[in-house]
Amino acid sequence: MRTEKNIEPRRGSWYNGYSPAERDKKSRELKRLIAKGVLLPASGPCALCGDPDNVPVEYHDEDYGEPFSWEAPVLLCLCRNCHRDKLHKRFWRHSAWFAFIAHIRRGGYARDLKNRSIKNEVKAYQVALERGELITLKKLRPYKRKIGEEWFANLRMDAESLCDPSARPRP
Ligand SMILES: [Zn+2]
Repeated sequence: MRTEKNIEPRRGSWYNGYSPAERDKKSRELKRLIAKGVLLPASGPCALCGDPDNVPVEYHDEDYGEPFSWEAPVLLCLCRNCHRDKLHKRFWRHSAWFAFIAHIRRGGYARDLKNRSIKNEVKAYQVALERGELITLKKLRPYKRKIGEEWFANLRMDAESLCDPSARPRP
């Protein structure tokens, strides 16, 4: 079922101070609204890397509080790579997350990392960062968002935030 695949798959875990039960409740409602045709299944471009092409995207939720919001920057469509490999793993891979953001800001898409030389360049950036050095990544495409003001610019990185009620976007 197409809509099934578009629902955030990571159940049974805390995020932004919301319990698995709270997350499940909103996910069930999202599924119901998609089935009713009130909400459309997730579609591109990816709200993180900006990839406009036909890459698989899925919904990501930043805020499971009620009343539910179904709009960005609460509910976002992210490509699978950004969602599963980058955003949700940022807590355990800080330098990799910062290197990925630098890659996005030079106009890079997640899928560009399939290219070996681009991947190596981002890896070199990450290694430099871990040494406290900064290198410049080659521009790939124009970047239209305002650096530092993107929804992902100042997300919490500490694993404690997963279960911390103060991490909720709404009190
Ligand atoms: Zn993406």
